[in-house]
Amino acid sequence: MRIVAVANQKGGVGKTTTAVNLASGLSLLGYRTLLVDLDPQANATMTFVPLENIDQHIYDVLMSRNGTVDHIIQQSSLEKLDVVPARIGLAKLESQLMGEIDAYYRLKDRLHPVIDRYDFIVIDTPPALGLLTVNALVASQWVLVPIQVSFYALEGTEDLLETISKVKQHANPDLSIIGVVVTMVDRRTVMSRDVLEQVHSMFGPLVFKTSISRSVRLEESPAYRECIHTYAPNSTSAREYKQLAQEVVQRVEKGIAT
Ligand code: ATP
Ligand code: MG
Repeated sequence: MRIVAVANQKGGVGKTTTAVNLASGLSLLGYRTLLVDLDPQANATMTFVPLENIDQHIYDVLMSRNGTVDHIIQQSSLEKLDVVPARIGLAKLESQLMGEIDAYYRLKDRLHPVIDRYDFIVIDTPPALGLLTVNALVASQWVLVPIQVSFYALEGTEDLLETISKVKQHANPDLSIIGVVVTMVDRRTVMSRDVLEQVHSMFGPLVFKTSISRSVRLEESPAYRECIHTYAPNSTSAREYKQLAQEVVQRVEKGIAT
């Protein structure tokens, strides 16, 4: 079992899209996969589970003094993919947990009893370096960083790297960056080529060979409550996310670490 947190405190860079389509991609490769939604926007949850089916959420489990995620796991429409749902309101958790001595360890502890049931656990995180993201980093062996092609693509990256390094130093020495994926690439534009170059010069071999093109199918798939692999299985985006899943598997097997 491997736990991968998808993290970048910048908003709208493709974290949820990547968590959803990486997790479903891994499940379609045959790996038993659990997608954990830690984002109060609950977009990853909504892609796979009708909200009316959800009674208890990750919020309830993180707030309780003990317990596990076991009883809140939902099956998705994909055979090998399960989901730990989030809900809007999770944001309040941060203030409520502050002051609890195990505040940063709650997710790790609550996941522990189920981890042997899965080959991969993928965690979607909110656009902040707060308690929820730190909980994800403490619970994971790997961080996957999506970087969106934009004028300020690398802005804020230092803060993210610093947080990762602090978590590694103080709470989770096993944490490593599994890779950086560039998202929303439009290969015709100079900006896309520039950003790809900048990301390569900053992260070198950590950059995944696969980058994710800007795509309308990808943008519209959540509206239909589907991942790209069922919504448009023959699309470029489905192929790209499948390739990304394969690269993740290869890196995990090789144990590439930084
Ligand atoms: P937040 O920080 O708010 O959680 P996020 O980092 O999770 O955002 P997403 O929600 O995955 O980012 O993506 C932001 C928006 O961009 C969404 O509307 C999504 O559908 C769209 N999007 C993501 N990836 C692509 C892509 N490759 N091509 C086109 N649109 C995309
Ligand atoms: Mg998101």
